[in-house]
Order: sequence, then structure tokens, then C-alpha cells
Amino acid sequence: MFNLGNVSTPSNSNGNSKHVKMLVLGSGPAGLSAALYAARAELAPVVLTGTQLGGQAALTFAIENYPGFPEGVGGAQLGELFQKQAEHFGAAVEFDTAHEVDLSQRPFKVTTDNGEYKADTLVVTTGASPNHLNVPGEVELTGRGVSYCATCDGWFFKDKKVVIVGGGDSAIEEGLFITRYASSVTIIHRREELRASPILQKRAMEHPKVNFIWNTVVTEVIGTEKLEALKLKNVKTGEETIYETDGLFIFIGHTPNTQMFKGQLEMSGLGYITVNDKMETSVAGVYAAGEVADPHFRQVVTSAGMGAAAAIQATRFLEAESG
Ligand code: NAP
Repeated sequence: MFNLGNVSTPSNSNGNSKHVKMLVLGSGPAGLSAALYAARAELAPVVLTGTQLGGQAALTFAIENYPGFPEGVGGAQLGELFQKQAEHFGAAVEFDTAHEVDLSQRPFKVTTDNGEYKADTLVVTTGASPNHLNVPGEVELTGRGVSYCATCDGWFFKDKKVVIVGGGDSAIEEGLFITRYASSVTIIHRREELRASPILQKRAMEHPKVNFIWNTVVTEVIGTEKLEALKLKNVKTGEETIYETDGLFIFIGHTPNTQMFKGQLEMSGLGYITVNDKMETSVAGVYAAGEVADPHFRQVVTSAGMGAAAAIQATRFLEAESG
């Protein structure tokens, strides 16, 4: 996590409504890039961090594909730099979370943990949350061996056996990260081919601590006080086995955090906010950027780009309005 000390005290914690030209919901790469551009356009944007300061990127141990950092950069460190740069130009970052929006008229009304905002423009960058397997035992043993965040919990598995579920970039990247601690990392994938990029696949295949179980799904998470084993099913043969493990990390994709906008903004069938090439949503003055609106790329660099585009468009919108 990055420096909470840099986050200003919520200015509307007295319950009063604060009117701003731009409110940004979310503090990941999209939100903080939007704030940077809006601040430089002198809109004095306010960013509500949400519960995950820095967004999902801040939980990533190392980001190796954000341009400008040839040696890679820590996710939290990059988030801190984004925040610093946005604040330098006048953005305010508030440790606060929106839980209700009224987009039926402008200014838009946003109710938060600490009060209420009225916003002339809104940039939604609320990101996405990790998917669950939805199998028996998963909820009960979360935090007792089951995790969705390697950077947060990897350390607890020093010299222990760890299982990763998933075959995408996240599963492989996070699995490789956990090899720092774990005695072995077993990647369980439902097919016999990984979805992850070739460079990550190669690293995992060549790593002495990493092994794979193919064509297999987890059907039950077993343990009383803590995780003890998994019930596995081979999807080709139907064979069921019990696999003992100390840790289970689940990386099987994400669901966009759009609950609060249902019925107010147009969304795809999968729940992503629909935007056009200018990051405009179905409501004039509301923009969306980053993973909340992007089922395709979901990279720090693409999210940052979408955030910048949203802020530029919002600036033009306000300029056109004021004549
Ligand atoms: P993803 O690419 O959607 O991969 C999800 C994986 O989970 C897939 O292998 C999928 O299997 C598997 N899966 C889905 N539902 C499952 C279930 N119920 N049970 C078992 N397995 C299940 O998600 P991601 O890895 O989080 O990546 C998301 C995006 O972020 C991608 O665009 C990725 O490139 C990007 N990303 C990039 C980096 C990087 O560039 N370094 C790092 C992390 C993420 P199938 O393959 O069979 O569908």
C-alpha cells in the first residue's frame, strides 16, 4: 500500500454537500491520470480513493510493462507517483468511498461514507474485483489459507505448499511471485493450454518450484480452522482427487465494480460500463475509464490512457457549456 499520509482529510466530513467541477471515483491508474489532466486544466478535481487506494495495480508486486521504467516498478510505488503528480497540479485525493449516485440531473449527486458531493462532471474509475470460484469452503477459509492477492498474503506461505487457480497473466505472474516464499507452487488450470502471455508461460514452465495440473477444477475447499486440502476434478476423465495444500490463490478474472450505476448508465451484458471512443457514457457529463469500462486490455498503461482521455473530454464538455 502507498502512503495514506498523503491523502487529505475528507473536507466534507461534516455531512455538508461539496460542489466540485469534477469528481473522480477511484484512485487506480485511470482515476489518478484523469485527476492529473483535470488538475492541469484547472478543474480542481477531487478523487475519492475507494477502499483500495491505488486500485488493483497497487497490489501488484512489480509492473514491468509500464513505459518509462526499464527495470520495472512496484505497483504501490507507481501509484504513489501518480498520486504525487496529480496533487502537484492541484488534485485533492480524499480517503472516501462513494456508495450511491444520482445521475438523473446535473450537478450529479454522489453520496459517500463521509458526506455528499455535487459534481458538474463525473469520471467513474471504480475498477473491478476478483472473481470467486463459488465452491464450498471458499468463503469460510478466505483469510485462512485462501487468498486473492499474492502481494498481500504471499509472505504467509514461507516454505509452504501453494496452489494457484487460473491460467491467465495474473495467475502466472502472481504464481511466480509466490515462488519467493513457497516451497512449491502448483498451477491448476481447467484446460491444457495457458491463456497467459508467452513470456510469462516460459518463465513459469522453466521455474524449478512451479508445476502444473491440467484439465482440472477445484470443486471444494477443505479445512476446519485453516485450509488443509482441495477436492479436484479432472474435467476430461471425471476423476476426483484430494490435494493437500497450505495455500490457495485464486486468479480467475474480475467483475467490474458497477453495481451502484445499474439502471443509470448503459452497460454491457458482463456489467462493464459502455463508453464510446471519447470515454463518454450514456449520460452527458459522465465518463468512465480503466477496468470498469475495459474488458479487453486491462493494463496500467491503457487504463491511464483512458483516464487521461476522459478528463480531456470532460474539460471540453465544461468549456463548451460555459461558451
Ligand atoms: P483472464 O485473462 O481473464 O484469465 C482468467 C483465467 O482464469 C483463465 O485462464 C480462465 O480459464 C480461468 N478461469 C476463469 N474462470 C474460471 C473458473 N470458474 N474456474 C477455473 N478457472 C477459471 O484474467 P487475468 O489473468 O486476471 O487477466 C486479466 C487481464 O489483465 C488480461 O487482459 C491480462 O492480459 C491482463 N494482465 C496483464 C498482466 C501483465 O501484462 N503483466 C498481468 C496481469 C493481468 P480459460 O483460459 O480456460 O478461460
